[in-house]
Amino acid sequence: MARRKKIYEGKAKILYEGPEPGTIVQYFKDDATAFNAEKKDVIDGKGVLNNRLSEFFMTGLTQIGVPNHFIRRLNMREQLVRNCEIVPLEVIVRNYAAGTMSKRLGIAEGTQLPRPIVEYCYKDDSLGDPLVTEEHIAAFGWASQQDMDDILSLALRVNDFMSGVMLAVGIRLVDFKIEIGRIFDGDYQRLIVADEISPDGCRLWDIETGQKLDKDVFRRDLGSLTDAYSEVARRLGVLPKSNVTKPTLIN
Ligand code: 5GP
Repeated sequence: MARRKKIYEGKAKILYEGPEPGTIVQYFKDDATAFNAEKKDVIDGKGVLNNRLSEFFMTGLTQIGVPNHFIRRLNMREQLVRNCEIVPLEVIVRNYAAGTMSKRLGIAEGTQLPRPIVEYCYKDDSLGDPLVTEEHIAAFGWASQQDMDDILSLALRVNDFMSGVMLAVGIRLVDFKIEIGRIFDGDYQRLIVADEISPDGCRLWDIETGQKLDKDVFRRDLGSLTDAYSEVARRLGVLPKSNVTKPTLIN
């Protein structure tokens, strides 16, 4: 059997050529990195959890009409997605101050923001994904004004959806990062949500206790990352409540 072609290997995922034109297989690795890969580890089961969680969020977005790259899950670690040209921006939406915003502006972590704030970072690991303004984005041609309007609208719709889904299971969506892809339908192009949506790119705090259920557990050495992600998956009903299956009576 011919070996499939690897297109790209990133910090948390590998992309392979898909079985049909215009598709890609996205493989979720167990590798965890932070601080631009200065901190690294292999976390057993992280890839399986992120594959399932990203499927859950992308499927929910499809159900409310937010276009995204997800086609179907293939197995425990892989999903089939639409091939798209990634816009070189990390789109960050913040509902509460945390992380780099708290550091940059001296706002205590956990302070509710007056409204969701959207930030853009230029996707370049060698530069540490620097924060950029719409002026940089327009001047360097990374996205047009129409693209920026569409990106803002997508980001805010994802925020509304994710905030609601999380609130329903007692989790506060503090902030998150998404990536946007460009797809071409003949002469037309459309922007869709791409990459992944998982606790790797979100800040998720338990509403009651403030316990962190996201990648900060790894970044800040706060305990088991798999336990945190499993808790998110369990609350969302993505994982069964228990791995123990009930005995069934056979007549
Ligand atoms: P901050 O700018 O505070 O470090 O991050 C804001 C939000 O975006 C956090 O939820 C964080 O997880 C996410 N984020 C920012 N940069 C990256 C990145 O390069 N990779 C991932 N997975 N998430 C990121």
